[in-house]
Amino acid sequence: MTELVHHRALLTAGLLAPTGAGSGVTTWRGPGLQVVRRMVGTFLDRVAAVAPPVETDHPFLDPHDSYHRVFPDYANVYRLPEGDRAGWVLRADNLHLNVAFLRRTGHRGPVVTTGGLLRRMHGSGTPLFRERYIWPAVQLSHLLPAGSGEEALSAYRSVLERTLAAFGLPALTVEVDAPAGYGDRCHLTVCCLRDGRPTVLATTYLMARRYREALGIDGELVDVGFTGKVLALAAMHHHDRFGLGLPSALAPVQLALLPHGGRSDAALRHWADGLPGVRTALAPPHEAEFRRHRAERTELRGGAPVAVGLRLDDDRRTDDRRTEDWRITRRAPAHRDRLPGPPTPGDVRAELDGYDRRLLAAARGRFDRGLAELVRGACDRCVAGRTIAVYGLIVPRRPLPCAHCGDPGRAVLLSERGRFY
Ligand SMILES: [Zn+2]
Repeated sequence: MTELVHHRALLTAGLLAPTGAGSGVTTWRGPGLQVVRRMVGTFLDRVAAVAPPVETDHPFLDPHDSYHRVFPDYANVYRLPEGDRAGWVLRADNLHLNVAFLRRTGHRGPVVTTGGLLRRMHGSGTPLFRERYIWPAVQLSHLLPAGSGEEALSAYRSVLERTLAAFGLPALTVEVDAPAGYGDRCHLTVCCLRDGRPTVLATTYLMARRYREALGIDGELVDVGFTGKVLALAAMHHHDRFGLGLPSALAPVQLALLPHGGRSDAALRHWADGLPGVRTALAPPHEAEFRRHRAERTELRGGAPVAVGLRLDDDRRTDDRRTEDWRITRRAPAHRDRLPGPPTPGDVRAELDGYDRRLLAAARGRFDRGLAELVRGACDRCVAGRTIAVYGLIVPRRPLPCAHCGDPGRAVLLSERGRFY
């Protein structure tokens, strides 16, 4: 199964613990938790352009009655036996809890939570794609005045596309009919697997009236959700011969420091102190080349985008002049190079930006090739008549003649194999 490539990459990088594959529960290690936190932080930074977000967390046990009032139909949730009192649901959704938070605090949103969701599931699942315990599950809720839903959909489309671009993941947004009448409008943010097949990374709903009434809301309610599948896609797309290469927005270490000889470790640390906002890690100093290369591999396998090495010779037999040898290891693709001297903070920023651009460009190549056959024009009549296997309407609307009848139409995303996720 090609999807498991991402799981191996995340395991090897030390982001996941070596348990849980197939059990439907993924176990994250410390560095993985940092990456998740950076994923959420990057999203929140972009949400702030719409309105300042507030974060919250909900208890694991959710009273059955308030859950059932909003979600009466879902059978795939875990419940505790009822006993004497009303029963409990093991947290199966965040929407009603987010809305309860907004009501309690008087905040209008956006409110964002990152807690996990538990769902019943048949079979063994796929790590971060289909799981019993879905974590992280990022869910945003935003109350808006009636009539402003369209504008909000457009704003969140841009937030999601820009968040994914920061992770080196190209995306387009399609409007689809919401499953099970969940939303009045539904936007799916579509990226692609490494082989170019499209896959859904985020959903945005303008909630349907039935839900707004159950939640007791006037006006509009926007619900945005995405999961750790975003990191699975990043792991699928971004690796080279060193292993996983994280986009700089996600990497716990952006710049690995590789000392070699003399007082190079102190010199590297001093140099790195002059790089504001860059997350660095200093490898242990080693004399033997194979140890230095192993230290480099260890740092880069953890996802660090760039490594800088410094060799210092205290050669006192000649003229007592210290010689410096600065090296850089770039990634995507992996390549070692000499540097004329210590890079400036601007040089380091340019290295990180260049690396992020290469990741995004490589993924965009796969995305464009994968979706080339699937983006077509369709007129309203052919869409309504299902003459064309339309998966969704591409937003924003882009005029394109209908591929079936030639009438004026708009760009749509096709799916020959029905609905994909
Ligand atoms: Zn047509």
